[in-house]
Amino acid sequence: MNGVLLKEAADAILNADYFIALTGAGISKESKIPTFRGEDGLWRNYDAMELATPSAFTRNPSLIWEWYAWRQGLISECEPNPAHNTLVRWEERGILKTLITQNVDGLHIRAGSVNVHEVHGDLWTLKCTSCNYRGRLMQPATGIPSCPQCNNHLRPDVVWFGELLDPVIMDHVYTELERADACIVIGTSALVQPAASFPLIVKQRGGKIIEVNVEPTMLTGTVDFYLSGKAGETLPALDELMI
Ligand code: NAD
Ligand code: ZN
Repeated sequence: MNGVLLKEAADAILNADYFIALTGAGISKESKIPTFRGEDGLWRNYDAMELATPSAFTRNPSLIWEWYAWRQGLISECEPNPAHNTLVRWEERGILKTLITQNVDGLHIRAGSVNVHEVHGDLWTLKCTSCNYRGRLMQPATGIPSCPQCNNHLRPDVVWFGELLDPVIMDHVYTELERADACIVIGTSALVQPAASFPLIVKQRGGKIIEVNVEPTMLTGTVDFYLSGKAGETLPALDELMI
């Protein structure tokens, strides 16, 4: 890791008035939670990108629920890693003001982060496909859960590819993005919109962008500091320089 670059990035964080974090599936990879892209995104030869869609659920709800039950089982056995824990520490120190995540694994909240916006929802929440019922699973789903109000199928209350994000959550998120003068983007391929454009909002208003990823992304060309490496190693290394 480039020590000078790391120190400059640490200083940019410390000098910011309103520092925020944006995270994607890559931050949970070292907690052994698979991402969607590449080999990791395969489950029984299905491509995760094709399973996380409304049409896949309409076609085969029991297959989609089997996949979610598998993911819920997996996540319940995983623990937050040093990258999640560093973000908790920065929030406790008053350095990090807000955390916006695309992840649905709940690990930021389990690690202890408080001001978290889960823009794609949470894997354990449920909503009815027909009425306004919403609920929460306490353990991995078995079969297709049905609605206690109308008996229709329940679905995971997550945002699938092609769906819109919750307007109430988005209002808060855009307010935070517009306040930020520095932002760290961790483990996201910057391909899923609108989350991919969040850092650009900070940048357009003159804020500094720090990116942490194991490989360059669509964003890399526009960031101020690109820190190449694993989130679970890079964040603690940054933290050590922020005394
Ligand atoms: P993504 O588009 O955010 O891509 C993952 C990124 O993480 C890649 O750029 C990869 O290079 C990087 N990465 C991998 N290991 C890393 C590490 N150790 N440290 C830093 N960076 C690392 O995520 P995706 O998997 O394509 O998922 C797309 C959407 O699907 C997400 O926006 C999310 O809603 C959902 N998803 C969530 C989870 C989760 O909750 N953990 C997992 C998979 C997918
Ligand atoms: Zn219902």
